[in-house]
Amino acid sequence: MRPLDGILADVEARIAAACAASGRKRDGVRIVAVTKTHGPETVREAMECGLRTIGENKVQEAAWKIPLCPSGAEWHLIGRLQRNKVRHALALFSRFHAVDSIPVLEKIAAVADELGVSPAVMLEVNVSGERTKGGFAPGDVPAAVEKALSLPRIVLDGFMTMAPFEPEPEKTRPVFAGLRELRDAMEAEFGASFPELSMGMTNDYEIAVQEGATLVRLGTVLFGERPKARPQRAVDAGDAGESGEGGGAWDRIID
Ligand SMILES: *Cc1c(COP(=O)(O)O)cnc(C)c1O
Repeated sequence: MRPLDGILADVEARIAAACAASGRKRDGVRIVAVTKTHGPETVREAMECGLRTIGENKVQEAAWKIPLCPSGAEWHLIGRLQRNKVRHALALFSRFHAVDSIPVLEKIAAVADELGVSPAVMLEVNVSGERTKGGFAPGDVPAAVEKALSLPRIVLDGFMTMAPFEPEPEKTRPVFAGLRELRDAMEAEFGASFPELSMGMTNDYEIAVQEGATLVRLGTVLFGERPKARPQRAVDAGDAGESGEGGGAWDRIID
């Protein structure tokens, strides 16, 4: 048995237990296997174990990795998307978990319209209010939803959040419940359906599932601690723009 098989069996059992505890069906929860910093062989191993939904947090990293991976995976961008990387990202990913500004929504719509694609989009919400976290403040979400619904091509179907790291995962529960309640309020306000909730990582996915997560983003629990020195270092040496606009040479090349 491959090592990942055993790990996955344990994760599956925990997800099943969390579903049972909250009266949910197991098939309402999908694992997004987060392969950031790991190479194509890790993606291959995940796919051999039946995982088909793969998450990356950087457009640059995905750009070199995806062509080296087996086909048949569904690639999700789980990290923040910058305006100047939208065109490239739309060629790589079918779902965006962490859209966090109206200019980015507008850019996705414009480029998607040009390309004739209809990406699935989720808005990241900073439910915890932690200053280091990305996402819309909860109070800004209605305007963002209204904007997303008015744009062509954008298939807005849910929301994403990250809870603060808690040594006691139970403490993350209000964050996940908060995102679910915000989703319910948006469905009522806009008469729309937003079925997807992307929440829960290695430390807190069982709590997130109990609170309604449909996409759990799992890295460390599946693939171990991430290496500190990233293998793609040389590729994104011009990566100063990751947290701002137009920093590296790469940013200018791709759009
Ligand atoms: C890295 C990452 C994850 C996975 O985190 P683990 O704790 O390793 O499971 C989930 N979501 C996002 C946005 C990430 O960047």
